[in-house]
Amino acid sequence: MKKFKVWIGWFTALFLLTACGNSQSSTKKNEKSDTGLIKVVTTNSILGDMVKNVGGNKVDLHNMVPIGTDPHEYEPLPEDITAAAESDVIFYNGLNLETGGNGWFAKLMETAGKREKEDYFAVSKGVEPMHLTTAGKESEQDPHAWLDISNGIIYVLNIAEHLIEKDPDNKKFYQDNAENYLAKLKKLDTEAKSKFADIPKEKALLVTSEGAFKYFSKAYGLTAAFIWEINTENQGTPDQMTQVLEQIEASKVPGLFVETSVDKRSMETISNETGLSIYTNIFTDSVAKKGKAGDSYYSMMEWNLTKIHEGLSQ
Ligand SMILES: [Zn+2]
Repeated sequence: MKKFKVWIGWFTALFLLTACGNSQSSTKKNEKSDTGLIKVVTTNSILGDMVKNVGGNKVDLHNMVPIGTDPHEYEPLPEDITAAAESDVIFYNGLNLETGGNGWFAKLMETAGKREKEDYFAVSKGVEPMHLTTAGKESEQDPHAWLDISNGIIYVLNIAEHLIEKDPDNKKFYQDNAENYLAKLKKLDTEAKSKFADIPKEKALLVTSEGAFKYFSKAYGLTAAFIWEINTENQGTPDQMTQVLEQIEASKVPGLFVETSVDKRSMETISNETGLSIYTNIFTDSVAKKGKAGDSYYSMMEWNLTKIHEGLSQ
């Protein structure tokens, strides 16, 4: 029943986009550049890929945090500032991703003279946030909502809505692209929901470096364990190592995972301590380099689901 609701939910949302695009086309200024393309800026490669799927060749995309790099902390380059200042629309994750740590995004928007909800939008709007669990941090939101594909679907709907709002002439193009893309994501999500049912509970522990898999684990039936909870904190302190080692001891987990966008040394230490091998790399805060497995949001999620299932089935 819940699946059905989600499906109907995004279908309805797409329908509303049609209505919304119509009403705004007369009032919103068409902000396209001389090239005829709408200038879009994204904070990270996952959002950049979603924009490409919806916006195709109608958008001129500048993505800021490079592939393979941690988006929690970032120092914008001069070209990021220029691109942000000249953009028609900017998408960021929100949920404390780019605004946690050194708060690079808020500073950049101020420098570029951009306004929230007019020029820049959090794609996570409408997602039910989860929070950090470490003592003293329970009020902080966990940003990694996209690792549950049903949240990724909300991101895509938000992106489509604002592309249509900024570029109503291409409304149909964006809608059709969004519809095709959402159908693919929905199918992957539905398959994933039953994927881990064959893993015994004592093995269903997903051990990663950063605690980025809470949304993922909740959606797909696993328990998340981690060394440090979020990339903005100290990584791999003795207390953190002891805690995750105890969790591993208490389980029968057959393998470990390490994310592509973090320092791997702490997980290598856990591997040495426990005798468990690191099954493979998985994706959290970035897609893979172009041409490699995981080089899109869809492909990184497909990889994560397949590899995590394999690694826990050993
Ligand atoms: Zn992260």
